[in-house]
Order: sequence, then structure tokens, then C-alpha cells
Amino acid sequence: MKKKNIFYKIINKKIPSKIIYQDKEITAFEDINPQSPIHILIVPNKRIKSINEINEKNKNIIGNMISASVKIAKKLKFAKNGYRIVINCNKHGRQTVQHLHIHLLGGKMLGKKFN
Ligand code: 5GP
Repeated sequence: MKKKNIFYKIINKKIPSKIIYQDKEITAFEDINPQSPIHILIVPNKRIKSINEINEKNKNIIGNMISASVKIAKKLKFAKNGYRIVINCNKHGRQTVQHLHIHLLGGKMLGKKFN
């Protein structure tokens, strides 16, 4: 059997995580190594390797992932203060898990720089 990535295991509850939100398309859970007081990952349940794999057929998932991020920010009451969403892609983008994900970061004044 093909080796399943860590996010597959989280989505399917094969390993523990703090799941914030889940529906038939998307799962959101706390990052194990938070870079800010709030650090949530939003992932499609069906694996897409990276943002490079987005095309005409599957592009709706990105809108749904962003919409879920906004809903979570509102529900957890940090939307008004603000937040950042980040998608890392491949080697130069320092993507370490090959399963598309949004980082939703907030809960403090974030740094100015992206690099
Ligand atoms: P990337 O570097 O690919 O953009 O982000 C991958 C993220 O997944 C990292 O922020 C990392 O801390 C997180 N991560 C890696 N393994 C696990 C895990 O087992 N559980 C959780 N909750 N997050 C993980």
C-alpha cells in the first residue's frame, strides 16, 4: 500500500490532532509547531500535492479553503484584529508536507517581512 502522508492520517483520525473544523471537503486543525498564538492548517480532505496542482477542474477548493479560514477567524474572534494566510509551495517556498494547506496565523501583531 502507498504510504499515506501525515495530513491524511490527521483527516482520517488515524493520529490525534486538535481538529477545529471538518466537512466533507475540508479539515482544519491546529499546527503542531505554532508560529503565532493562533496557527491553524486548512487542508482539502482529498490530497492535492501543492498549489501547483490547482487547475480549472479543482480550483473551487481554494475558494472553499479561504472561506473556511474566514469562518474560523470569525468564530474564534480574531477576524477583526486581523490575521495572515500563507500557502507554501515546493522547495523554495519551504513546503514540507506534500498536501496542499493554508496556514492561518493570528492572535498577535505579525512580523512585517515575508522572507
Ligand atoms: P509547510 O512547511 O509544508 O508549509 O507546513 C507544514 C506544517 O505542518 C508545519 O507548520 C508543521 O508544523 C505542520 N505539521 C507537521 N506535522 C504535523 C503533525 O503531525 N500534526 C500537526 N498538527 N501539524 C503538523
